[in-house]
Amino acid sequence: MSEREHGVSATDGVTTARPGAGPPAAAGTTRDWSAETLRDALDRTSRWLLGYRERVGSLPVLPRTAPGEIRAALPARAPRDPEPFERVLEDFERLIVPGLTHWNHPGFLAYFASATRGPSVAAELMIAAVGVNAMLWRTSPAATELELVVVDWLREALGLPEGLRGVILDTASTSSFTALLAARERAGERVRETGLAGGPPLAVYVSDQAHSSLEKAAIAGGLGRAAVRRIPTDRGFRMDVDALARAIADDRSRGVRPALIGATAGTTSTASVDPVAPIARVAEDTGAWLHVDAAYAGSAALLPELRDRFEGWERADSIVVNPHKWLGTSLDCSVLFFRDPAPFREALALTPAYLASEDGEVVNLMDFGLPLGRRFRALKLWVLFRCVGVDGLAASLREDIELARRFANRIERHPRFRLLAPPSFSTVCFRAEPGAAPATDEVADALNRRVLERVNRRGRVFLSHTELDGRYVLRLSIGSVHTRPTHVEEALAELDAAVEAELGSPGGPGE
Ligand code: PLP
Repeated sequence: MSEREHGVSATDGVTTARPGAGPPAAAGTTRDWSAETLRDALDRTSRWLLGYRERVGSLPVLPRTAPGEIRAALPARAPRDPEPFERVLEDFERLIVPGLTHWNHPGFLAYFASATRGPSVAAELMIAAVGVNAMLWRTSPAATELELVVVDWLREALGLPEGLRGVILDTASTSSFTALLAARERAGERVRETGLAGGPPLAVYVSDQAHSSLEKAAIAGGLGRAAVRRIPTDRGFRMDVDALARAIADDRSRGVRPALIGATAGTTSTASVDPVAPIARVAEDTGAWLHVDAAYAGSAALLPELRDRFEGWERADSIVVNPHKWLGTSLDCSVLFFRDPAPFREALALTPAYLASEDGEVVNLMDFGLPLGRRFRALKLWVLFRCVGVDGLAASLREDIELARRFANRIERHPRFRLLAPPSFSTVCFRAEPGAAPATDEVADALNRRVLERVNRRGRVFLSHTELDGRYVLRLSIGSVHTRPTHVEEALAELDAAVEAELGSPGGPGE
């Protein structure tokens, strides 16, 4: 690029603007923005951000955009010349925001929430400001040590035993995959050196309700889908422990080694909790690695009154809890706890010459996962704990659970809806019933699809669906700090209106 394009001479300093090259807001006059330009951009951004958070509840939760529409509105090539930030922010508001699904909308009641509390917004700014990479202790001692400290704060707050350590990764999928790699190393024979070929076949056991990330981990970890045993669940969607024991015994009799049992505390569909204590006994008896996927519900262990639901998880080899699901940190923040760091190191530590350090007895976080570069995620948890406090976090979880309980009660009493699973934590599965005339499952499924479509199209709330016993089921989950009782009332009103439009008011025809 020419001197003209950059606005700096080849010899002057990298941050010195060429006289007469234009106002600082035009950017590009230096390698980086001047302090003045950055201040202006931050002022604009924070004004925008505050306004957005205030008005997000009045926007449709789901965007009304057709596939490809946003892409078509954007230039095919990056600009060659710098543009003022003001214009970028305008385009963000004009082109991008209308195409967003608003996860911070108070009516976001789909999937598991991931809403950002104020302290996490501030923490993200701090993370960007320092931009450190916590791959090695020396590449940012404070980031490494803060990560160890906040993971331990979380462990203690969740009532997990001392001695359990952990790291912060991006997502539960990565955390579970990492656990599988450690389990694979322990169960296999020199997998690190020779791979899986030639070693004993390994198997993974999860319930038929487990999240797909466990299966994906088996695929990515070279075990293959065929190595995943989907263990049936009981009427409460909890893993059948006898069936688990039988599956392992069967495998062992054929020379297949049980590498990992994945128990779930808070399944994705119904938030059911597998019987972790008896599963732990099976794991101990068979030598299988026990991984507990508590990505969503694990946060609820902050509440002493709910701790017994997690009984046995303290015996796990590894546990994943996602603060970005229910504690209000921004995506991404997934904590992987483990009892013994050795299998992680054995599976994943690899230090090329250019990363070798002579710092002595330090923890290098790159040794515990696949990525080398690591964001300073610990700051999000630190700021959250400091600014909200454990009791504050617990109080909002209690509110969410109470809101879900009230919603479930209303559904239970509703003439047109029926609960499809016991409400669990802050998640409720239910279904509209076609009415007095007997209807096939297909007719009922189609009705529920249409009800959900009607509700979500209106944009006041966003609910999702799942499948239970092969049937299409509606699902509401509360996990956003922005959701208040009025929004749950609104969800009920929307559901009411949608089912009435489909079936007519009691006694009358539908639309
Ligand atoms: N485990 C459970 C139980 C989940 O519900 C989910 C996602 O909702 C995941 C794992 C995957 O989470 P992530 O998006 O952090 O990979």
